[in-house]
Amino acid sequence: MTSKINTTKAKSIFIKSGLPGSDRVINPYNGCLFGCMYCYAAQIARWKHPNEEWGTYIDVKVNAPELLKIELEKLNKKLKTKNFGSVFFSSVTDPYVSIEAKYKLTRKCLEVLADFGYEGTITIQTKSPLATRDIDILKRFKKVSVGFTITSLDDDVSRFLEVNAPSVSLRLKALMELHKEGIDTYAFVGPILPYFLNKERINPLLDKLQAVGVKEVWFEHINLSPKIKARLYQYLKKEDPTLISEFEKADTEEYRSELNKMIHTAMRERGLKMGLGKVIYHKNPLKK
Ligand code: SF4
Repeated sequence: MTSKINTTKAKSIFIKSGLPGSDRVINPYNGCLFGCMYCYAAQIARWKHPNEEWGTYIDVKVNAPELLKIELEKLNKKLKTKNFGSVFFSSVTDPYVSIEAKYKLTRKCLEVLADFGYEGTITIQTKSPLATRDIDILKRFKKVSVGFTITSLDDDVSRFLEVNAPSVSLRLKALMELHKEGIDTYAFVGPILPYFLNKERINPLLDKLQAVGVKEVWFEHINLSPKIKARLYQYLKKEDPTLISEFEKADTEEYRSELNKMIHTAMRERGLKMGLGKVIYHKNPLKK
């Protein structure tokens, strides 16, 4: 598949965030070449690309590091602090999407934050082992954590639904490397994939995460909003139509509440910390 890479200049980069657990968000890119089939960003990051298929384009904000430096200095002048709250990389892209190897915008933004002496928490969430390239800069922060999305332990499942993202085994290896280097890590099990992540698979998944040094796990129920569904089901229809009914079955309060109980028990048994203390669920506004 050919990718369309557009270079662009952002007007702002250190954006206030409405995401749970973060005050600010930095997106050095808009769009994502990993093309996950369940991606919620596919709906919100495409206003400039209404007719392009998610996963085939990306906007590279070439001025992101310079702009970040200016915005941090401006805020510092106004608020006389070096802590503007928790900063999250990223909400409408993966900060270590493949072309980051060339453009290094995430790396340079981290460098800007480190040079500034940023005192808030930095959280990075990715599916790419490229994050380990930046261990040298990550070590300069007092409060930093790197999270990897782990939706299954099976590389075939990640290849199937996280089409162009690095395999889950590479992500687990990267988690281990970061942990060994003394960087705080966490895992994001989201979305909890219907059919692929069931009662039998949750315990081995948590055991594996603990084995690679993870102490905190975030969970999120799948968001089957009409727009996400349209793209995901179109794909499943083509690849494996039997899965559609499995996903439909999972979109009920009963299913979610049973899963919540099971997850809380499994986490408690292992002494793992649950992100936000609960399984996140973004309720579909069209559902009562
Ligand atoms: S890596 Fe994240 S932003 Fe990129 S397509 Fe997958 S879910 Fe979306």
